[in-house]
Amino acid sequence: MLRNDQLDQWDRESFFHPSTHLAQFARGEAPNRIVTGGEGVYITDRDGNRLLDAFAGLYCVNIGYGRQEVAEAIARQARELAYYHAYVGHGTEASITLAHMVVERAPAHMSKVYFGLGGSDANETNIKLVWFYNNILGRTGKKKIISRDRGYHGSGLMSGSLTGLSTFHNKFDLPLDRVLHTKAPYHYRRPDPDMSEAEFTAYLAGELEAMILREGAETIAAFIGEPVLGTGGIVPPPAGYWAAVGEILERHDIMLIADEVVTGFGRLGTMFGSDFYGLKPDLITIAKGLTSAYAPLSGSIVSDRMWEVLMRGTDELGPIGHGWTYSAHPIGAAAGVANLKLVDELGLLDNARETGRYFRERMEERVGDHAHVGEVRGEGLLCAVELVENRQSRTFFDPPNRVAPAVVGAMAKKGVIARAMPQGDIIGFAPPLCLSREEADRVVAATDEAIRETL
Ligand code: PLP
Repeated sequence: MLRNDQLDQWDRESFFHPSTHLAQFARGEAPNRIVTGGEGVYITDRDGNRLLDAFAGLYCVNIGYGRQEVAEAIARQARELAYYHAYVGHGTEASITLAHMVVERAPAHMSKVYFGLGGSDANETNIKLVWFYNNILGRTGKKKIISRDRGYHGSGLMSGSLTGLSTFHNKFDLPLDRVLHTKAPYHYRRPDPDMSEAEFTAYLAGELEAMILREGAETIAAFIGEPVLGTGGIVPPPAGYWAAVGEILERHDIMLIADEVVTGFGRLGTMFGSDFYGLKPDLITIAKGLTSAYAPLSGSIVSDRMWEVLMRGTDELGPIGHGWTYSAHPIGAAAGVANLKLVDELGLLDNARETGRYFRERMEERVGDHAHVGEVRGEGLLCAVELVENRQSRTFFDPPNRVAPAVVGAMAKKGVIARAMPQGDIIGFAPPLCLSREEADRVVAATDEAIRETL
């Protein structure tokens, strides 16, 4: 074991942490946390703290920490065959079984899955497939992708461009061309406070259609969206939103990519968010909950209509020119198989639905009336508490992004991890799907106390 001071020194000297204030960290002005273990909904750190992780890492450890079934499946796979590639028809029992399990769970009109490593690369794959599809059909001008303000689709060149949060664009020369952003389905931040959800949906549909007409439907290939906006603030859409969007896309022959990196495999209490909202996507992005992050793995689930054209493309061009060394990595696939079995055996979809409802109701009861709580919202085991300077006018704190980190910091001192979402003063919750009611009560109590102490 390394000494703590040695670890701290190497951490500051050598480790380039993602999404971190680099200068403050290097100067030792921002804290580090070295995580050493995890069990159920708890993690432990090297200072001996035991923290209830109400964000499941980065909303990914859906089955909870420390499941030996998955650890053993990974160890078995590593001993037998740690790696072989999946190019030109190669596979392993784990990758083929996982493909079958994913397709079995996917909407009926989808029957193939391409495996990558993380959500960002899966979205890069999706956009390439959409462009390939349109090129094979001879629709070479139909290439633009519509995403949404506050959408989050990753940090790559294209996936980061699809992301609709300025924090991920600033000084990176993003977004790239061909990406458009339409309005976020964020009812709390509607342009007119008197707008009902139905009116807001009609407004958003009007904005989307106006964009399509302005650009020309013949230039637009696809629309990408998370069933519930995640990193952009944990925002379920207003009533009727997805039906309205689906109708417009179909009318203009624009494909739908459902980014289910967060909502896939049970977070909303259904297998996919597409099931929850009745979407009929051409592609579904999956990652996090596919393996509960026990090993990196992502995927793009492909509709039958797209698959037909992709096959035609390879008859014309030869093998598809797209692959990663680690596509369908056997260790990730073994983790995925063991994980999806556990999701079923532990009844995690039902728990996400029922404990999720309980959690949000308790949260609303405890903090909903606080002078600086603008809204408590969520779906399944996703929940957000939005903090505002003034409840009536819904005004942001000035400067923004200050208060939520302070509340989350106070919660951590009480042994509960929540996430200050990157844009706006929003506290996010996405606990493991095995959360119990007692654990939910603890998170709610810590949130309530931290808000009262901080504001
Ligand atoms: N899409 C969504 C909806 C996400 O929430 C994320 C990550 O949080 C991604 C894509 C990117 O996934 P990754 O960080 O694995 O690249």
